[in-house]
Amino acid sequence: MYAGGIALLLCICFCISLFIYLKGEYTDLACDEFCDQHISAGEELGRHIYSLAYDMRGGVRDLGRLYGRNFEERLDTVTNELVEFESFSHIFYLGSDGMFYGDKGTKVPENPEYIEKAYAELEGLDYEGDDIYVGMRLSAIGSQAEPRIMIVTPVYSNNGIRGYITGIVDTDRLFGSPLFDYQKTRGKCFVVDSEGKILAETASISNEDTESFRESVLKICRDTEENRNALAGIRYALNNNESGYVVVKTKQGLEMQINFCPVANVPKLSYLCCYTPGLQDEMFRPMLFWSVLACIFIMVLMIICLLMVWANAKRINMTVEKLAYEDPVTKGKNLSYFREFALDTMVKSPDTPYAIYRFDISNFRYINESYGHIRADYILESCIRNFEEIFSDKELCVRMNSDQFLALVINDATLEKRKNEFRAAVNADTRSRNIKYPIRFKTGIYIVKKNDHDIDTMIDHANVARKSVSQDTKDLQATYSEKIVDNMRKIDRIESLMHKALTELEFKVYLQPKWDIVNDRVCGAEALVRWCRPDGTIIPPDNFIPIFENNGFVEQLDFYMLESVCSLLKDTMEKGGKVHAVSVNQSRLLLHSPDYVENVTSIIKEYEIPPELIELEITETVFENGREDMIRIVGELKQLGVRVAMDDFGSGYSSLNVLKDVPFDVIKIDREFFAGAADNEEAGVILRKIVDMVNELGKQVVCEGVEYAEQVELLRNMGCSCVQGYFYSKPIPAPEFIERYYKA
Ligand code: C2E
Ligand code: CA
Ligand code: CA
Repeated sequence: MYAGGIALLLCICFCISLFIYLKGEYTDLACDEFCDQHISAGEELGRHIYSLAYDMRGGVRDLGRLYGRNFEERLDTVTNELVEFESFSHIFYLGSDGMFYGDKGTKVPENPEYIEKAYAELEGLDYEGDDIYVGMRLSAIGSQAEPRIMIVTPVYSNNGIRGYITGIVDTDRLFGSPLFDYQKTRGKCFVVDSEGKILAETASISNEDTESFRESVLKICRDTEENRNALAGIRYALNNNESGYVVVKTKQGLEMQINFCPVANVPKLSYLCCYTPGLQDEMFRPMLFWSVLACIFIMVLMIICLLMVWANAKRINMTVEKLAYEDPVTKGKNLSYFREFALDTMVKSPDTPYAIYRFDISNFRYINESYGHIRADYILESCIRNFEEIFSDKELCVRMNSDQFLALVINDATLEKRKNEFRAAVNADTRSRNIKYPIRFKTGIYIVKKNDHDIDTMIDHANVARKSVSQDTKDLQATYSEKIVDNMRKIDRIESLMHKALTELEFKVYLQPKWDIVNDRVCGAEALVRWCRPDGTIIPPDNFIPIFENNGFVEQLDFYMLESVCSLLKDTMEKGGKVHAVSVNQSRLLLHSPDYVENVTSIIKEYEIPPELIELEITETVFENGREDMIRIVGELKQLGVRVAMDDFGSGYSSLNVLKDVPFDVIKIDREFFAGAADNEEAGVILRKIVDMVNELGKQVVCEGVEYAEQVELLRNMGCSCVQGYFYSKPIPAPEFIERYYKA
């Protein structure tokens, strides 16, 4: 743009200098043209006058020797011929005897007194070689006394000069040649004598009649020194037989060019031409007009080009900016933009309480796989769109990658309301696209502090908080705090150790017996994992299972546990021990993996144990969002022959429909739920009814967390035949359990 401006300026400068240059050139050209035309015309003038003089001389050559009537007749013929055929307006004869003879037969002198004077004048003339005199003023002859171009030829008799023939050159015919056309149309032509007297003119310069060329010029020009000098210069040059031009200034301030030259071959006569004042400018004007027009045109073109370049540059800029700041999937902004926006907004309003939200969509992978990425992308786009609609323009939400979002929000009293509105809007959008899966956001929050300026750290903190959110928490959000950081450190440590721990067999199977309270004997066991560190510490599953569930490692662990249990049962049976079914906990992640049933099948087949000895415990919440899947998988497992138990019944949002629809073999009543039923009468009624119902459905009911004899009694009265709890045994290492309960 800058360069464009400079180019435009240069263009303007160029146009102006071109204009000045052209003006100079064109003026010079006009001058040259004037000069050339002038000299040609001057030469033509000379030729014309000279030929007239010679024709006249030829005509009068034999006149001198004639007498009497012959003379008069011949004189008449000569004069008439000269007037008729040559460019004379008048011819006179003036004899030494006082005879005057004018053309058209005028024989009577108009004024005898003048004739004498005129004769004396003629006698006093200085004749040239051919006895011709050109360019006089014959002041003596009455009405013809004004200055004229005259050609005078003496008429010789044997005794010397007998008289003079004088021809007045016709001015119209003098300037009649086409060679004068150019000058006549552009100015006024003059023939002057050596004293500056005008002898012939095409028109007078001023309206007043003046004899002197100089005076008549001064009538229309200012009497300035320059003008006088110019006129003096003409005279000087002509005296030296030189030609040229001068420029004078008229009273109107216009320039007028005067060209001058001696008339060729005719001494003492000069030919001058005064061009119309301002003519050069006038001649230049069209040229000036077109040049200015061309310049304006070029400049307009340049401005258009510049504007186009500018518009193009702007468009490119916008595209670059769009590419740099736009997220292609949601058409919202991206992380780069977020960083700049967040910092800028926080700096501009330091008193506004801001928070950074870092969230993702819970189980987005599942949505992506089930509904395809186009519909999944629609959800992402809907998040951005709804955020923009619900939140203010001082808040911003961007997608970072996959289903990861980042938002800057104002942490005020209405934030909760806006968040709820946002969640509802996204869910409504999702349902409108026939996606039945409810959208839940897993959110990490960082509350911005007064002196926070490092946006990346703030985002990281929010992310730490997000990672700390476990799928089990209800509102799926966490706010960054030191505790979370501590937790994260622990998680990091566990994650760094887990793989090695698995290969080095640090994960041990503990077994807790299930007790048949009717016959008072063991009727089964639940396998529970313990992490036995080399230093002897034993880490309980609650400390690492949620972490493994988050990072996916639980899949490997669960299969490892299943294999260990199978191997244990096989071993015991081979040794002749009497075994009961052992239940193994199955994480929800496991059940979402597509080849889950296949893997279970191959493990059981590998250890060649009766499948009914394996009971798989599945928590109800696992299928919260996919009842059909639950029915299908449980069906497939049952097909395989293993028993399937619903774990922790009564802990979450247990639905009686599950009991009806899903073909579980065993329902395990949650410890907390059972503990509540022991203290509270109403809960007790509910528990009793559940036990009745399960029994009536033909399923086995197992009650967890039985710690006291009274509880056993209560359950027995309720009709529950199988329990599990510390009252009978804590989970104990598998070898100890075998030793105690399954010994042959
Ligand atoms: P859960 O499946 O409900 O297992 C029962 C838990 O209750 C066990 O805790 C057990 O020790 C405890 N318990 C049993 N009787 C009593 C009692 O009378 N009083 C009290 N207070 N507690 C009792 P544990 O072994 O710490 O396991 C905790 C949870 O970890 C389990 O809950 C299960 O969800 C998970 N878990 C354990 N092992 C595995 C595993 O191999 N795979 C998976 N996916 N999860 C496992
Ligand atoms: Ca269990
Ligand atoms: Ca349980």
